[in-house]
Amino acid sequence: MSNSIRFALLSALIAVVTALGLVAPAGAARELDPRPSTEELARQLLDLQLRSRGEVRVTPIGTSNQQRPVWSARVGHGPQRILYVTQQHGDEPLGTPAALKFLREVGIGNDQHQRWLREQVTVDVVVRANPDGHEHNWRYNYDPDADPEFGEAGKGYDINRYHDPAVAPENNPATEAGLIRRHHADFQPHISVDYHMQGRYVGGDGREITASLMWPTTPGVAEEPLNLAKQVSVVARSAMDAGGANVSQYPGGDYQGIARNAYGLLGSGSVLIELSDMGPEHEQFQITSALDSMHAIAEATADGSVTSVDPAQADAIPPRGEPIPAATTRAGD
Ligand SMILES: [Zn+2]
Repeated sequence: MSNSIRFALLSALIAVVTALGLVAPAGAARELDPRPSTEELARQLLDLQLRSRGEVRVTPIGTSNQQRPVWSARVGHGPQRILYVTQQHGDEPLGTPAALKFLREVGIGNDQHQRWLREQVTVDVVVRANPDGHEHNWRYNYDPDADPEFGEAGKGYDINRYHDPAVAPENNPATEAGLIRRHHADFQPHISVDYHMQGRYVGGDGREITASLMWPTTPGVAEEPLNLAKQVSVVARSAMDAGGANVSQYPGGDYQGIARNAYGLLGSGSVLIELSDMGPEHEQFQITSALDSMHAIAEATADGSVTSVDPAQADAIPPRGEPIPAATTRAGD
């Protein structure tokens, strides 16, 4: 056999083996795709449903303006309900791969701990709330004819300004926000966590802030959901910091159209988590950091420990500090 034929056969063999997923980098933790395509996201969700033997239930909650599915993936069947939302802003992607890994780690497998967790909590994830914004790699949904109060003419709406409880979902001009509002009303989560990304900041001690979080800051949120949001914030911060993060408070606004505020008004312990956009070399770390928070919140809800956290500990989380010059700037929430 000539060398060239041998080489061609070997190449074909490698291609087949790789396509079958039979080889993984030895010893290395597998890197997650920070920005799975629309098609790849659907493929992974349906694969999760199949491989979890139905423990992960995948359904579209509706379609975006450009007719892409907005997916809900639900795992567990316990009485405590948790809603995670990722990527309302299309160019803030990293909550999405974290959610896929969370669903995989909770839904696939049947060990004692997994069975226990799934009996205590039901976790529903709106995975990539803004698929059109992802495709266009921008913050907004896709509605170029709109002249939105919040958003950008020629592009679309800022979905995360259109969750106002006073606006009925059917009258919501921002399609995907209406879908999430309706989904929230159907599911009635005790806890609701919204994953975003922010620019880069430095804390008062000179260390970079890797993530920021906040509870509702709009007037009128009842004491019970507000305290729960603070307890969830403390749990998330502790878990993320234990994994090497440096979490601060997020200086968010009090407008009630912001999901963090709206879902607090609607009775959920509602939290915003913002991962700092620290560049490609930190993306795997940031995905893991979001994943840490997803697991910790689910676990602390399942075992009830979240309710014994002192909410005042949230107020003691340090403020975010100053922007790092020349770093990416992003709009809030
Ligand atoms: Zn955002």
